[in-house]
Amino acid sequence: MVRRILAENGREYAGTYVTTIICLVAVAASTGFSAWIMRDVVDKVFYKQQYELLGLICGGIMLAFTIRGVASYLQAVLLAKIGNNLVARYQQRMFDHLMRLGVSYFTATRSGQLAARINQNVAGVRDLLSLTLTSVARDAVSVIGLAGVMIFQDPLLSCIALGIAPPLVFAINYLMRRLRRVTREAVEYNSRLIGAMQEATQGIAIVKAFTMEDQLSAKLGVLIEEAEKRSNKIARVSERMSPISEVLAGFAIAGVIGYAGYRAAYHGVPPGSVFAFITALLLAYDPARRLAKVQVGLERALVNARMIYEILDIDPHQRDVDGARDLVVTHAEVRFRDVNFSYAEKMPVLSDVSFTAEAGKMTALVGASGAGKSTLVALLERFYDLDSGTIEIDGQDISKVTKRSLRRSLGYVSQQPYLFEGTIRDNIRYGRPDATDEEIEEAARLAHADEFIRQQEHGYDTLVGENGVTLSGGQRQRLSIARAIVRDAPILVLDEATSALDNESELRVQQALATVMKGRTTIVIAHRLSTVIDADTIVVLEEGRVVEEGPHQVLLAKADGVYARFYRGRHDKGLQLVDDTGDGLKAASPSQRKVAGGAV
Ligand code: ADP
Repeated sequence: MVRRILAENGREYAGTYVTTIICLVAVAASTGFSAWIMRDVVDKVFYKQQYELLGLICGGIMLAFTIRGVASYLQAVLLAKIGNNLVARYQQRMFDHLMRLGVSYFTATRSGQLAARINQNVAGVRDLLSLTLTSVARDAVSVIGLAGVMIFQDPLLSCIALGIAPPLVFAINYLMRRLRRVTREAVEYNSRLIGAMQEATQGIAIVKAFTMEDQLSAKLGVLIEEAEKRSNKIARVSERMSPISEVLAGFAIAGVIGYAGYRAAYHGVPPGSVFAFITALLLAYDPARRLAKVQVGLERALVNARMIYEILDIDPHQRDVDGARDLVVTHAEVRFRDVNFSYAEKMPVLSDVSFTAEAGKMTALVGASGAGKSTLVALLERFYDLDSGTIEIDGQDISKVTKRSLRRSLGYVSQQPYLFEGTIRDNIRYGRPDATDEEIEEAARLAHADEFIRQQEHGYDTLVGENGVTLSGGQRQRLSIARAIVRDAPILVLDEATSALDNESELRVQQALATVMKGRTTIVIAHRLSTVIDADTIVVLEEGRVVEEGPHQVLLAKADGVYARFYRGRHDKGLQLVDDTGDGLKAASPSQRKVAGGAV
């Protein structure tokens, strides 16, 4: 994992790494020097009383510490810079990658959990770099330097001191293995926890209406408890390093002092080298202990890095085919030819669907909820690949053109207009990034949105929050229509809202839609009787098959036709084509609308 991170990010930083390593070596060398000099201090100044050396030694020590200070500062800043930049790059990479993934990934993943998980993972990697790497690098170099001093001063004593290394390494390995699993579990529980909180706040109206507070609270309580348990377990396992390293260090220091004392007493060995040795040993103790602990922290960060790569390694399905050309729209005729499609569950959702949405005309898709209307639209947007058959725009198979050019030719107004964080102007501009302010305002006028936008305190610069909470349903719809107008795509895909708007709003939305449809090929998932009657062609779907096709009058003339039957049923009752009475046409559940509702 570390190798992969370095391979993908190392090259740009080669220069900075070299500078950092020089600083680290300077730190280690000055630390080693201060231990080294103890031999001369003891042997020459105190033992042999060569006081003329005192000035030189004191100057040397002061210089060593100054170098150590400056070098420590530089290496810390440089390493932090590399670390922060690495985090920034992973955030960007992660987002870019997510945006490339197919729609199916997002239908299978809970957005709140995903966001929480990514957040934790990136933070985990930052810890790896800014905290862990800094200390690993500095401490490791210091320990190596000091070990060098120790071995040079007294190889035998070094063997005693370094004797604790094997059990230490063994203990670290054991703890790291235990941490791996529990760290992953902790991240997952925390993501579920944060995801659940987010879902509950987003659905707060439902929560209150169904008095679900206590139930949700109990459910969340279980998650919180599990997450807490994991955090405690992580603390127990990782802190276990301290007693282990302390005990081992005690053995080493006691062993060294015991043996050195014995040697001095019985063999009269001068104390200088022992002093230098013990100074080095004591100086090495702290970084060595930190190093042992850092190993454990490193393991946690690596678990997070691994989780990031699990997402980055997901293959974005439906890449463009080799040599895909841009779609060239001339008339904007859309033709479905023998389209068969099933979602992952392999139950056929569409069977041999063929129909043509004629250029510049309006085609209405009609059918019970679950008949496959939204799926048809999703296939036209190429959110999924067909099992067989083709969809053609002006005779070009959409699976052979670039997705970018395909989607640029499609304008989309979804059933649940989604507004993104930002101003009203930004939200309309998502239709086409290079649209001028005038074009945006013109689009808003055409969408009958201009008036209410101007009434807002900041006009076009009013911030719309999550889901545009401050705007009414009709206003949001008109903004999303303005977005489609700005896009100015030759083909318009429209998922009509089933939720009733008040008459005034409804009228304005209808007017706005009429404007945007003009001169465009429009495919509309129709729920409103008036829309269906106005359509040039009606395509009636039943359980994924086209059962009837033709204009209103023709279909109505078929006495026992599917369309004629339910038109009469609806019309007599004065109802919309789809309502929630469920007779003939079942209610559309929000989850079934997910594919269409989440886009644009
Ligand atoms: P409609 O828009 O006519 O209500 P849909 O196209 O939404 O119908 O759904 C057609 C069928 O496909 C339904 O049986 C529905 O349960 C299923 N379906 C829709 N979306 C998905 C999905 N993302 N994964 C699996 N099955 C789906």
